[in-house]
Amino acid sequence: MSAPTLAPGEIDAARESLAAWFERAQRPLPWRATRDPWAIWVSEIMLQQTRADSVIPYWRRFLEAFPTPAALASRPVEDLLDLWAGLGYYARARHLHAAARRVVEVHAGRVPPSAADFAALPGVGRYTLGAVLSIAFDTPLPVLDGNVARVLSRLVALDADPKALSTQRALWSLAEQLVPSRGAGAHNQALMELGATVCTPRQPACLVCPWQTRCAARRLGLEATLPRAAARTAQTRHTLVAALCLEDSPEGPAVWLVRRPLEGLLGGLWELPCVEVPVDPGATSPDPLRALGLEPDADTPPRSIEHAFTHRRWTLHTWRARGVPPAHLGAEVAHVPCAHLAQVALSGPALKALLAWGVEGAPRRRGAGRARREG
Ligand code: SF4
Repeated sequence: MSAPTLAPGEIDAARESLAAWFERAQRPLPWRATRDPWAIWVSEIMLQQTRADSVIPYWRRFLEAFPTPAALASRPVEDLLDLWAGLGYYARARHLHAAARRVVEVHAGRVPPSAADFAALPGVGRYTLGAVLSIAFDTPLPVLDGNVARVLSRLVALDADPKALSTQRALWSLAEQLVPSRGAGAHNQALMELGATVCTPRQPACLVCPWQTRCAARRLGLEATLPRAAARTAQTRHTLVAALCLEDSPEGPAVWLVRRPLEGLLGGLWELPCVEVPVDPGATSPDPLRALGLEPDADTPPRSIEHAFTHRRWTLHTWRARGVPPAHLGAEVAHVPCAHLAQVALSGPALKALLAWGVEGAPRRRGAGRARREG
């Protein structure tokens, strides 16, 4: 597919109307009031896959705890994961921690303004590169996230598989054509804001859109059908048996949790002691838990939850049990008072299982209780 091109006059007019709209319609988000590249970088990482209003309290708490890359780099990654609890998509946090350490080691603790240096940091892809450098340093680099891809697909009525490489190339090319040599940060934020607040997935508010007269999808009546829905990713199914071991502690009821190894799926997150068993949709038995030295209560039926990842789907059957999980089961084993569960970086499946059992103190986060992708 050849990338759509915009005529120079068209580009200027589109930029101007977008800038004028952003000036009057933008939300007063706290990271828009700073030029501190570290604060902007943190906001951009948190905003990937998470809504702005949910991010605000996390962003504030994060910068209080880690006001500079050096402050983050000096702490173990586990401290960051616990502060991230509830935001999900923890790989972002692990990459940010690794990047902060690199910034300290290689760039004397300062966020590098050079595109080559910034792009070499862990977790920095083309989107993060463009967003952080354009907003913090006004470097004329484009951005393309889900919101921008939707707006641009509609602007030129691009009817193509959104996951295809050729489509991605075409959209990056359009974003590149539109980004101005000065004011790139404001332009990129305006594009993202338009996608988040006006050109929304199901019911775009074309009547208040600054591009309503130049948008090809609107002209063709395709604004609600473009971009085309992406084909669903095939998932493998997995069945796990878990134990809910609740016991009294000096701080009230407490639950045994196991921290997963830092590398791999749900790395560094806390979960209930569990084992994977062969997929059997017809029956579930607590016997595998005995191999962990636990005593499941076979008379009380388990409670089961489903959890979807990008490429896999878990069915987790949780039994009430007694005992202490063995230390080798994960990177760490802890007896966590239920009153502290909101401060712990729980995996999505563990949180759902705790909620399914009505464990007091399990935080009711956005997304808990329904399928959510984390890795
Ligand atoms: S006119 Fe409608 S579909 Fe086109 S960019 Fe604006 S909000 Fe989106």
